[in-house]
Amino acid sequence: MKLETLNLNSRHFERLTSYLDKELFRLKKYNLHRVLRAVESPQSPEVIIEGKRFLLLSSNNYLGLANHPYIKKKSVEALKKYGTGSGASRLISGNTALYNSLEKKIAGFKRCESSLVFSSGYAANIGTISSLAGKNDIIFSDKLNNASIVDGCRLSRAETLIYPHKNLKVLEKGLWEAKKYQKRIIITDSIFSMDGDLAPLPEILELSEKYNAILMVDDAHATGVLGKNGRGSAEYFGIEGKIDIYMGTLSKALGSIGGFIAGSGKLTDYLINRARSFIYSTGLPPSSLAASIAAIETIESNLNFKEKLWRNVNFLKAGFDSMGYDTMNTKTQIIPVLLGSERKTMKAMSYLYDNGIFIPGIRPPTVPNGKSRLRVTPMANHTAKDLEHVLEVFRKMKKILHH
Ligand SMILES: *Cc1c(COP(=O)(O)O)cnc(C)c1O
Repeated sequence: MKLETLNLNSRHFERLTSYLDKELFRLKKYNLHRVLRAVESPQSPEVIIEGKRFLLLSSNNYLGLANHPYIKKKSVEALKKYGTGSGASRLISGNTALYNSLEKKIAGFKRCESSLVFSSGYAANIGTISSLAGKNDIIFSDKLNNASIVDGCRLSRAETLIYPHKNLKVLEKGLWEAKKYQKRIIITDSIFSMDGDLAPLPEILELSEKYNAILMVDDAHATGVLGKNGRGSAEYFGIEGKIDIYMGTLSKALGSIGGFIAGSGKLTDYLINRARSFIYSTGLPPSSLAASIAAIETIESNLNFKEKLWRNVNFLKAGFDSMGYDTMNTKTQIIPVLLGSERKTMKAMSYLYDNGIFIPGIRPPTVPNGKSRLRVTPMANHTAKDLEHVLEVFRKMKKILHH
């Protein structure tokens, strides 16, 4: 096709364009339209976004490992040795030897027999849930679970009972009534990604044992952050080795990319053979695998990162609370600042933006209507001065939000 025949306004594209125009107009009208912004520096407390310098308080790079010299060095070494891409899915020829080391490392870190790495946490969740649950099974899923769990449930075709957030009464009633199903599977985030609160895992574990249900825990935000040694929610709650399917991601506190499932050797063997998001997708680049290995080594040998993160979290949260902001009872490094309306949230976001602080507003459908918020996430390597500045700007913002 010659270039001049590619006319986007031609009749050929009309049906699609008129649909898109209508939908985009609707998103803009309700303050729900989102845009991408180019980040021109590493993920650090200070970032450059489209030429402008910001204090970054919205990264999941909680421990600051995404730009850590040792981890970068190991990643570059792997890039030089193995090249840029893995070339194929893992079952064909893309199973770089580094996978083996990484999966052993994750299994040890999570105190499980085995682990399996997927190309993302999203892929780990949809592949695992949809391959384990089927027509004759029932899944119990917390209302605030991550979208990748929701999508996994939909793909599985299993009956899905979405219980109100952390409501164990409804969960237990559902389990009690679910005897006719072949498998009962309870799935919950450990740290909820938008509210920052914790699932009552010991009680959920007890219910899973009482009603003979399989327990799957999504530890995306807790890995590297919770527990005495940063091993996650199971370590924090003292229930290591008791979660059937322990999911996590390498992309947040570990500063790399990829998702994993930790559990028994039989579980990972099954997933290798059945999880479609594992089978039909190319293996991760060797440089990312090496970065993940080095990140776990770093966390295992140095608790400083985690301690600094928690110090920053406590400082920032205490500051917000003292100003009367609603931080929604968060227990973790995810500090929501609940503002309510989309309009107010956008106003706050642009005020922060104008004052050199980058915190995108979180709006529906990511959170329920009327529960829009700023989601503030400090990192281990923010300085006290950084955070004092953030609090200062929030103090001034309080006034403008009332008008
Ligand atoms: C981020 C996240 C995922 C997805 O992980 P990715 O590696 O980013 O694909 C899954 N579950 C939860 C709770 C998350 O926060």
